[in-house]
Amino acid sequence: MKIKATVLREMGKEAPYAKSKPLSIETLELTEPQANEVLVKIKATGLCHSDLSVINGSRPRPMPMVLGHEAAGEVVKLGENVRDFEIGDHVVCTFIPSCGHCIPCREGRPAMCEKGAAANAKGEMLGGGYRLRSESENTMHHLLGVAGFSEYAVVSTNSIVKVDKDISFEKVAIFGCAIITGIGAVINTAQVRPGSTVAVIGLGGVGLSAILGAKLAGASEIIALDINEDKFTLAKELGATQVFNSSSDDVVEELKEYVTGGVDYAFETAGVVPAMEVAYKITKRGGVTTTTGLPDPKHEFAIPQVTLAAEERTIKGSYVGSCVPERDIPHFVNLYKQGRLPVDELLTDTIALEDINEGFDRLARGEAARLVVIMS
Ligand SMILES: [Zn+2]
Ligand SMILES: [Zn+2]
Repeated sequence: MKIKATVLREMGKEAPYAKSKPLSIETLELTEPQANEVLVKIKATGLCHSDLSVINGSRPRPMPMVLGHEAAGEVVKLGENVRDFEIGDHVVCTFIPSCGHCIPCREGRPAMCEKGAAANAKGEMLGGGYRLRSESENTMHHLLGVAGFSEYAVVSTNSIVKVDKDISFEKVAIFGCAIITGIGAVINTAQVRPGSTVAVIGLGGVGLSAILGAKLAGASEIIALDINEDKFTLAKELGATQVFNSSSDDVVEELKEYVTGGVDYAFETAGVVPAMEVAYKITKRGGVTTTTGLPDPKHEFAIPQVTLAAEERTIKGSYVGSCVPERDIPHFVNLYKQGRLPVDELLTDTIALEDINEGFDRLARGEAARLVVIMS
């Protein structure tokens, strides 16, 4: 079938993207879903920094590629052997398909799925190959097995989670990346205990979700840090008890004065080394520093090694919030429906697909927690 989709052909074009237009909206051919795949009519897809990292080339992927991974939509066609989904199901896409059979999958760590990671690195589907092509190109890569900036997507059943129909697509889409990454880092990876002190550095969609997670976990202090003070109002509305400008020279001393000795748990969600350095320094002796950020692979983070043993420190990495999406997405949606997760606040704006380049400018400038493309 012919579909409209957003194609990236060249990474690293100069911002502003409204001018350089790295993303073009094109008509592509989408093949039928194969075994264990479904055709999803995409309804809403969020703009995420992981898309931006491909656009600016800091996390290179094979080109050309259809971007978009924080997507939600409706199942409209089933491939062979699909048992767990029906036509009409509302689904959220997850950005690492899990095969269910490799060792990490068997250990209950689907975010570490070996086959899923290999397929994502190649820009292929979990079942191998591609389902998209253009008139002149037989190979059109899928970002993270989703390729969600598109009218329709063929996705593996291992890339989707069924969700309730009484939550709007533009809100439920955010659960597929920002929410599970941010809340998951707090609840699953760091396992924050009630009464403990938390700091979150980097107040994008993931960082703000981590604040929501810290509140859910019963943290006694939730300290929000960013280089952009415009983000502090929303952070406070979501549960931050104090804010600090992380670019200030004295931020570490000031924070350690506010919470004596530093916080029990710090979360770095900005994906840059200076943020990770602050996160580590503001974690107290015996504390846990967790990072969800995905910096340029060439950038290195250095620490005095002695602090690990002498101060019994822990550094943790968190991918997809160490989540089991089939378990955690419905669980978090349920908390949202109970009014305990104000996800509405994270949705800054909805935009049309035609405005996607401008949307990435807004995301790059830090003007939005989450912008979501509404597919008509
Ligand atoms: Zn994302
Ligand atoms: Zn696996």
